[in-house]
Amino acid sequence: MAVMTTRREFIAAAAAAAAVSGVALERGEDAAERGIKVRFLGSGAAGWHKSMAKNPHARRQSSVLLDGRALIDFTKCSFDKLPEGCRPEVLFQTHSHGDHYNPLAAVKSGVKRMYVHETWASAARAEVSAAAAKLGLPAPEVRALQFGRFVEECGMRFMSVPANHSTSRVTDGVLERTSLYLVEKGPARLLYATDTGGICGDAARMIGIDPHIQKTKSPDGSDFIAPFVHTAKPITALIMEATNGDTDDDFRIFVHSSVQTVSRIVDMLKKHSRYAPPPGQSAYITHLAIKYREWPAEKVNADIPSTLRSAYDGLEVVLG
Ligand SMILES: [Zn+2]
Repeated sequence: MAVMTTRREFIAAAAAAAAVSGVALERGEDAAERGIKVRFLGSGAAGWHKSMAKNPHARRQSSVLLDGRALIDFTKCSFDKLPEGCRPEVLFQTHSHGDHYNPLAAVKSGVKRMYVHETWASAARAEVSAAAAKLGLPAPEVRALQFGRFVEECGMRFMSVPANHSTSRVTDGVLERTSLYLVEKGPARLLYATDTGGICGDAARMIGIDPHIQKTKSPDGSDFIAPFVHTAKPITALIMEATNGDTDDDFRIFVHSSVQTVSRIVDMLKKHSRYAPPPGQSAYITHLAIKYREWPAEKVNADIPSTLRSAYDGLEVVLG
């Protein structure tokens, strides 16, 4: 155990140094082993136009690449920040809004599998097939996700949990449900939370960060975390949207978050030991507001609480 502690301290010190210097962690040989390598392919909300690419600080539509293999959300502009020669294997979709989901881009990315919530899986399957036929490329297999169940991909475990967000898509009479993702790898538990207005109660329960404590054990020992049998377990890393910028005076407060929302969540979860990042590791905001759309990350960081840091396009960090 002593070795583990020393190792964790070493990682924490590296993360702290990176956080202080504002420089992303280098790609160490054991980077994949010590946490989840997150590369932000985009860090802005909707409204990207390719003419903005001239500005190195402009923010593309939000997307991340995890451990160089798994994508969460992907659109046409996401290709810009994919590493040279990168061949992502899977794509997890948070929802079907156009700044997160693009069937043509999904097919062109070359992913083999694509995961969407079961409420819109049949629609996604038809759209991706049509895109593949148009491009003359193979279509990824579209798999339906249920909330609260883990799937394993690329050495990580992904669990879809409900977002507090909404689309107008109805498939077979059912309204689409939108997703956040809990991503686990070793001791790392990363919550990727966009698009969402705060974190809703069902999601908090499934993740294990709500105020309740475990009452019973899962009867069959499966990975399903039923709302009433979860084990309280802190997350160790958080990436969350701040679409509303630094104001709560925004009608979209029901479906999007502000910097203040994220800051309050971070403080509250820390206070109740539901968010326990390695020392020096900040929570990141992404899907940034129009106000911050073309601001350099340092300028955003000076404008937000010190517990948070701004993601930016191309930023790569290892989150433990
Ligand atoms: Zn959306």
